Amino acid sequence: MNEVKSLNEECGVFGIWGHPQAAQVTYFGLHSLQHRGQEGAGIVSNDQGTLRGYRDTGLLSEVFKNQADLDRLKGNAAIGHVRYATAGSADIRNIQPFLYKFHDGEFGLCHNGNLTNAISLKKKLEEQGAIFNASSDTEILMHLIRRSHNPSFMGKVKEALSTVKGGFAYLLLTEDKLMAALDPNAFRPLSIGQMQNGAWVISSETCAFEVVGAEWVRDVEPGEVIVIDDEGIHYDTYTDDTQLAICSMEYVYFARPDSTIHGVNVHTARKNMGKRLAQEFRHEADIVVGVPNSSLSAAMGFAEESGLPNEMGLVKNQYTQRTFIQPTQELREQGVRMKLSAVSGVVKGKRVVMIDDSIVRGTTSRRIVQLLRDAGAAEVHVAIGSPELKYPCFYGIDIQTRRELISANHSAEEVCEIIGADSLTYLSLDGMIEAIGLNTDAPNGGLCVAYFDGKYPTPLYDYEEEYMRSLEEKTSFYIEKVK
Ligand code: SF4
Repeated sequence: MNEVKSLNEECGVFGIWGHPQAAQVTYFGLHSLQHRGQEGAGIVSNDQGTLRGYRDTGLLSEVFKNQADLDRLKGNAAIGHVRYATAGSADIRNIQPFLYKFHDGEFGLCHNGNLTNAISLKKKLEEQGAIFNASSDTEILMHLIRRSHNPSFMGKVKEALSTVKGGFAYLLLTEDKLMAALDPNAFRPLSIGQMQNGAWVISSETCAFEVVGAEWVRDVEPGEVIVIDDEGIHYDTYTDDTQLAICSMEYVYFARPDSTIHGVNVHTARKNMGKRLAQEFRHEADIVVGVPNSSLSAAMGFAEESGLPNEMGLVKNQYTQRTFIQPTQELREQGVRMKLSAVSGVVKGKRVVMIDDSIVRGTTSRRIVQLLRDAGAAEVHVAIGSPELKYPCFYGIDIQTRRELISANHSAEEVCEIIGADSLTYLSLDGMIEAIGLNTDAPNGGLCVAYFDGKYPTPLYDYEEEYMRSLEEKTSFYIEKVK
């Protein structure tokens, strides 16, 4: 349901070293990461030490329209990016990878995530004479690398990585190497794979490995910086102060079900969440209906555990263009009607458990409940495969204010009434953590659950004040607007 409600991943990155058609492989890799960003895409390739890049707004297929567009990007190494704008507007200047040419070298850079100290770093760098071309956070790393007095390039990169805070996965392509780095909490997933010819690939999600024929090697760990060159792969760290806190929403909603993050397959995690949700559900029902596509795995788990039939009571129109996110409430609602239909022959007269992954604003859920009722459902019990979303995210998701979250402003009973359901059940926080089941001793089972409990794994730096202010912000916006 990524395209009809406003809860969006910032970006996807893909990189490769050691393949004669590096740009082509990167295109395929990015294609499988398209769900992580649809506003722009780009690739920078390395042709025997000379970097070339192309980027534009739109879907990958709109940016690279034909083979000739890719053929221009020659070379045996490349990095690529699909963008969803959270920080910085969606104009072409913000589309990545960025390609920087200096008197003494060049590099390409792309980034997934959000820096929590970007505002103050930018201010400081501008005061020192730095010029920013884009409004996104990514250029900050370039300026920090260039300003570092460390004698080695690796030293400069490590110093820059230690200065930026928040959630980040960087790919950096120079004349003679590909580098990848993750923040000290590894909020965003990043995995390493290898192709049969020995080429190394790095991707935001492992689903891209299947597509390009690569084997998963391992995930990038918190605080790691990895270098790949003609000699092979070298693992290093830029900090020891690390603690895994991978974004739980990757498992709930963002990542593709065929991806595996830190050893846990996303479909399996969702299915387990559905099973646990069935254990916590307290109502009588006849059938289970998952909201396509992100809630189908949870619906399977719910049905398996409860013994209720899992039916296709909602059908998604596969051919609705996925080119932009509708900006207004009204258009979002229209978007739901275009993209989903309820199947009357399935739901008529039935007590339906409608499974969805999350409730953000509530408008989409309200609309889907109405679709089911219009199709003749006798009762609609909404069961959500995650806890109530009450707090904003500052690590790379586009909800940065509590105003936008219905559960930050209303109790579960009120939300149930607003969306017009007969009952509303959320998965408990413990239930979600156990269902995902990462094999780690880190707090919250190695997950960031700040969206649900407001306990952020890092200081919020530039966002601290704004966050404290938002805690006092209460609004009856939904009651007034929706009812
Ligand atoms: S605050 Fe929420 S969306 Fe952001 S990283 Fe943490 S769990 Fe993910």
